[in-house]
Order: sequence, then structure tokens, then C-alpha cells
Amino acid sequence: MQLQCNLLPQNDGRCGWYDTLPQPPAATPLRGKAEADWVVLGAGLAGLAAARRLAELQPRKRIALIDARRVGFGAAGRNSGFMIDLPHDLASHSYTGARETDLRQIRLNRGAIVYMRDIVQRCGIQCDWQEKGKLHGAVEPHGIRALTSFAKGLSALDEPYHELDRQAMKRITGTDFYSAGLRTPGAVLVQPAALCRGLGATLPANVQLYEDSPVRDITIGAPHTLITDQGQLKATKMILANNAYAAQFSQLGLKGRILPVYTYGSLTRPLTPHEQDALGGEESWGLIPSDPMGTTVRRLSNGRICIRNSFTYNPSVSASANRLQRVRTSHCRSFEKRFPMLPKVDMEYTWGGALCVSRNGGTPFGEIKPGVFSAVCQNGLGLTRGTITGKLIAEYALGVESELLNDMLQQPKPIANPPEPLLGLGVRSTLAWKEWQAGIEL
Ligand SMILES: Cc1cc2nc3c(=O)[nH]c(=O)nc-3n(C[C@H](O)[C@H](O)[C@H](O)COP(=O)(O)OP(=O)(O)OC[C@H]3O[C@@H](n4cnc5c(N)ncnc54)[C@H](O)[C@@H]3O)c2cc1C
Repeated sequence: MQLQCNLLPQNDGRCGWYDTLPQPPAATPLRGKAEADWVVLGAGLAGLAAARRLAELQPRKRIALIDARRVGFGAAGRNSGFMIDLPHDLASHSYTGARETDLRQIRLNRGAIVYMRDIVQRCGIQCDWQEKGKLHGAVEPHGIRALTSFAKGLSALDEPYHELDRQAMKRITGTDFYSAGLRTPGAVLVQPAALCRGLGATLPANVQLYEDSPVRDITIGAPHTLITDQGQLKATKMILANNAYAAQFSQLGLKGRILPVYTYGSLTRPLTPHEQDALGGEESWGLIPSDPMGTTVRRLSNGRICIRNSFTYNPSVSASANRLQRVRTSHCRSFEKRFPMLPKVDMEYTWGGALCVSRNGGTPFGEIKPGVFSAVCQNGLGLTRGTITGKLIAEYALGVESELLNDMLQQPKPIANPPEPLLGLGVRSTLAWKEWQAGIEL
């Protein structure tokens, strides 16, 4: 079976998380002929975790981890840096049976945080790891209703949270934009590109990392063969960790079940001391919107502010310059609404990145062809979901059993999407409608 990778990772704008880091050491691309016991395709969060875990469990085996770009350049280094333990959509209070689904999800997310914390501490990864939880912010009545429903879900699960009124939100964020809020303690905030780069730099010795090596062609067989512009890699077994780019693989049953959706981030220049005084509030915090289509905001201890909003359906898995320009305008508007006391602060960076979602939140986790394992489709929560999916796929492939693996295996499989052009029409109109409904929360 032959798979062509016609959709390859593109530039998608300058990412502030990546570009504010020092230059990485030179990459090692795949050149000539190479062999390995395992190949992991894609060095995002899932691929980094899968390769590490395989190497931990099989220290004598050769593991190749291959990426089209540098580690941290893709979506794994482009996200807002929330390692989230709680699902956004808690259903425990609204229908029977949902409690176990929510708890399973939380156990998986927390399993990721525990695994990652240990690596970050043991390997001394400098990624601004902060165990300070996250804020949820609401502005309008519908946002407040969403917040109330989320709080009910937390109570039903006996999860701790702290309600915040407008004054308390202002004390933390410096702005009186939010009329209500809530703080949950379990989320971890990170600098995502620094985390990925640190993970890539501290892989076990039996992992060979190939960067700047777009795989153009894959032959599934015994062994599998991956072709790049300058090299060829043969491996007995393969883990797919290419997330949204796997949506092009119809022969593996992934096309038509998972889909690439883009979201976008912008980072301001550092605020001056005078601007920081004008803003007030705490030195660093992270806020997610109570309306899922609203705006995520982080204030960083280096004085910059990061904004994320807008979702678009991009089957080409790339973001055009025009799109990035439009998003930048939207980010500036969202920033001005929240921070009128910072009138001259511009966005220094704007970028996009690919999420991979399925209509029912399901995952194609497992062995999808003999010797081919899937760790794709994190449904937007890649920092935790990607990490735990990568770790557990390695354990699953090697027959290591655990409660967490059972939790993962109980996740539903992705259901089929309607065919194009219905799919595109449906996704685009739903996103536009929800964004319009988000109103001022955007
Ligand atoms: C702006 C933004 C904000 C976000 N905020 C958050 C957040 O706060 N918290 C959170 O949990 N998630 C967030 N996400 C989502 C998160 O980034 C993704 O879910 C996560 O990156 C998925 O990890 P992954 O390893 O599965 O896939 P990816 O990170 O997409 O990694 C896939 C890798 O495969 C490589 N690849 C693809 N095709 C090929 C090929 N042919 N050859 C070689 N390599 C290939 C790519 O280069 C890429 O590095 C956000 C995303 C964006 C864009």
C-alpha cells in the first residue's frame, strides 16, 4: 500500500513562541539509506512522547523520529500553552453516564501532566512550567450561562474551583472587561515551543531525530519505507503522529473521519514598565473563554500578551497570507476591547496552526493496519491529549497494560463525515454562526 503525502507542513506565519527562542543547533535531516525498528512520523507532542516511551521500554531498539520541520515549529510549539486537565465541555450534571466519560478524560489529561512534569524536572527543560491553574472568563449573559453550567459540572465531579466577580477578575487581569470568572487549579501553563525543543533535545540515546525531512511517500509493508527528498528510511513498525496531515490518508480509513481545523495566535511586543503599571493585575496568568469561540489570553512574565481566537476549516492544511492578515486584525480588535489602557501595543507575531478534530470527539487510537499504529487526532487539546496518546500508543504497541490504557481504549472511534462539498459547507457555516454568536466574547 502506497501513501502519498501531498499535504506537507507549511510556514503559516511567524510564531512568537518559536521566534523568541535562541536559534536551535543545526538539524540532522534524513540523508541516504537508514533503518530502524520503529519509525514515528511527526515530532509534535504525540510523536515526541511516543518515541520517548518506545525508547524507555525498549532501550536496545532503534527508534527514528522524523519531522518535516524543526521540533517546536509545528502546532505543538504554536499553541497557547495550556496543559488542561479538565474537559471544556463537562456533561456530568446533565445526563446519566456522562460522569464516567468526564472522569476518564480527566484521568487521561492528568496522566499526561504527571508524565510531562517528571520529564521536565528530570531533564531540566526550561519551558516556563507554571502550575498555577487557569481562569475562565465571561463577558455577556450567554458567556455567564456557559460558566454557570461549567461550574455545575465541576461540582458534580467534586472538582475544586473558585468563583470570581468582576472586581476579582480585574485584580488578576488588570482589565474590567470580564464580568465574571472562575479559577480551576489543575492546569499547567508552559512556553510550548520551548517545551517541545527541550523534549527533542533530551530524547533517549536510542532515538534518532531527523528534522527538516518532509516525508513525501510511504509504502506500508514489511518493512515500511518512508521516502524524503534526500533519503529513505525502512522500519519494521510505524507510529503515525502527524495529526491533521493524516486526514489525507484515505487508504488508512482516516480521510473522511478526521479533519484539519486551524486556529490562530498573536503575540505582542513586550510591554514597557509604564504600560505594565497602566495595566496592573498579576504579572502572569492564562485565561480561556467560557464561550468556546471566544478569545484565549495569556499574560507572560516577559511582559508580552498572547491572544488566540478564530477557527477556520483548512483542508489544504495551510493558512494563506490573506487569512493571517484578517486574523491579525481580529486579534488587534480583541486586544483593544480588553486592554484599552494599552493603546499603542502592536502584535509583533501572528501565526496559524493545525488542529485535528473528529465530529464526535473520537480518536482512531490503535493498530490501524498491521504494524501501523495511530496516535493522531487530539481534538484540539494536544498538550495533554497528544502527550498521553503518544505515551499510551507506545505502551499499547508493546503490550504494556494499564488503567490509563483501558481509559484510552474506551474512547469512541471517529464517526464518518459527510462527503465534500457538504462537509466544507457544513463546517464553515457552523464556525461562522458560532463565531457570530460569540459576539463580544471574541
Ligand atoms: C494557536 C493554537 C493554540 C492552541 N492552544 C492549545 C492549548 O493551549 N492547549 C492545548 O492542549 N492545545 C492547544 N492547541 C492544539 C495543539 O497545538 C495541538 O492539538 C497539538 O499540537 C497536537 O499535537 P500532535 O503532536 O498530535 O500534532 P502536531 O503538533 O500537529 O504534530 C504533527 C507533526 O507532524 C509533522 N508532519 C506532518 N506531516 C509530515 C510529513 N509528511 N513528514 C514529516 N513530518 C510531518 C508536522 O511537521 C508536525 O510537527 C492549539 C493550537 C493552535 C494552533
